[in-house]
Amino acid sequence: MPDVIERLRQALGSKAVLTRDDESLEDYGRDESGLGPFPADCAALCSSAEEVDAVLAIALETNTPVTPRGAGSGKVGGALPTRGGIVLSTEAMQKIIEIDPDDLVAVVQPGVITGDLQTAVEELNLFYPPDPASLEYCSLGGNAAANAGGPRAFKYGVTREYVLGMEVSLMSQERLRFGRRTSKGVTGYDMVAGFVGSEGTFGVTTELTLKLLPKPPAVQTLLAVFPSLSAAGGAISALIKDGFRPRTMELMDKVAIDAVRQAHTSPIPKGSYAATLIEIDGDEEGLDEALIRLGMTLDESGASDVLVAQNEAERRRLWQCRRLISPTLTEACRHKVSEDICVPRGAMIEMIRRIEALENTYPFTIGCYGHAGDGNLHVNIMCDDDPADPTVKAQIDACVRELFQHTIDLRGTLSGEHGIGLCKRDYMPMEQGPALLEWQRRWKAMWDPRDLLNPGKVLPARPRACHE
Ligand SMILES: Cc1cc2nc3c(=O)[nH]c(=O)nc-3n(C[C@H](O)[C@H](O)[C@H](O)COP(=O)(O)OP(=O)(O)OC[C@H]3O[C@@H](n4cnc5c(N)ncnc54)[C@H](O)[C@@H]3O)c2cc1C
Repeated sequence: MPDVIERLRQALGSKAVLTRDDESLEDYGRDESGLGPFPADCAALCSSAEEVDAVLAIALETNTPVTPRGAGSGKVGGALPTRGGIVLSTEAMQKIIEIDPDDLVAVVQPGVITGDLQTAVEELNLFYPPDPASLEYCSLGGNAAANAGGPRAFKYGVTREYVLGMEVSLMSQERLRFGRRTSKGVTGYDMVAGFVGSEGTFGVTTELTLKLLPKPPAVQTLLAVFPSLSAAGGAISALIKDGFRPRTMELMDKVAIDAVRQAHTSPIPKGSYAATLIEIDGDEEGLDEALIRLGMTLDESGASDVLVAQNEAERRRLWQCRRLISPTLTEACRHKVSEDICVPRGAMIEMIRRIEALENTYPFTIGCYGHAGDGNLHVNIMCDDDPADPTVKAQIDACVRELFQHTIDLRGTLSGEHGIGLCKRDYMPMEQGPALLEWQRRWKAMWDPRDLLNPGKVLPARPRACHE
């Protein structure tokens, strides 16, 4: 490694290269998955596309693994340097290069924080919809790599719908631009679709061209409380059947509601079994009418209370209940496994029923919340025993496997938005057959034949033949 570090220092300057002598290097061995730490040998803090090219060239010439990293908020271990080597950080690439209100596009460097772009475009009456709950600290490069979703995905879709064009630095020592700036375009294969969601295993994004929308003139936020989780699920189905298209339909179960209540003040009435946070947007007059119809459907679906935010402060208070769930559930137990399953909308109530049954089979509390309008549930298996204890570990693994099996049986998928990374890699064969996995290995090998870029992520190792 000394040679690699020396070459990185020459290319980027010494201050941009962290080594094991720097205490802060440890932070680059962790993310929000709770796995690790996995110590990197060094971190290269790139400021430009040229520096990204240089780091990849050094990695290739010295046969050193290199792991791209945005803000490190990923929940599946995708940015962890499991084989050591270089962490290539884009956190210093924070420039919003352009916001064009005529073309409705923004061009950004990958390290721009998602919430910062949203604020900047909203000042121009524009709108960038993808809103992962981590938007105050996650990066757009990380969002593109993970194809991040968020509460507004129900109406507006996920990151993939907003990435028009990309510039990507490759292990082949090339930097490619692909995609478009136009609102339509079908020239050649859809490279953007292939790279978005590739979790930093194909190349390193150095620039993104993103689609913007006009900012909706008005928003209404309300929270409906229910006597059971399946009643809340039923209300969501009823709203969809009645033709509503809220931008957000978030579900919280009793475990999630109680965890937030114990740690903070909460507007959700005590003893509530489930709640949905609903947000609609559009023009003012239409919204008033929609709000009345929405209230009627919620009443008919058994809501015991409906709180409508009367101003921005109340809106923030309702949202805070949702945003605090993940950190408060983490604090509420010794060890938490967070899964991110997604089932077809029609199967959501059955999925909730099966999750409730899992809680009766295993010695864990299971907290459930998420983007229920999309059938995307964050299922949190909460454990108070030592997860390193082999019996506890086996029970957690069995519970996760059973959860995934139910998801697949209901024609769902292992991850709705967090990605596969390291955490779910070995469960991939439950959903995808050997031929499909093999084609994806060939695809990865085309971009990175020596398996140096974010190795060991997404795809499980090939099964060993019996005679090996
Ligand atoms: C409290 C909390 C709430 C969250 N809520 C949501 C949510 O609502 N929706 C959602 O989808 N996710 C959510 N997440 C997960 C996470 O924030 C997202 O996956 C986010 O997109 C990760 O961005 P990042 O910049 O932190 O990426 P990182 O964690 O640094 O990296 C994530 C992946 O992207 C790759 N990568 C990063 N930058 C680049 C680049 N420039 N080029 C190539 N590859 C790159 C990495 O190698 C890694 O595989 C949440 C996380 C937390 C902690």
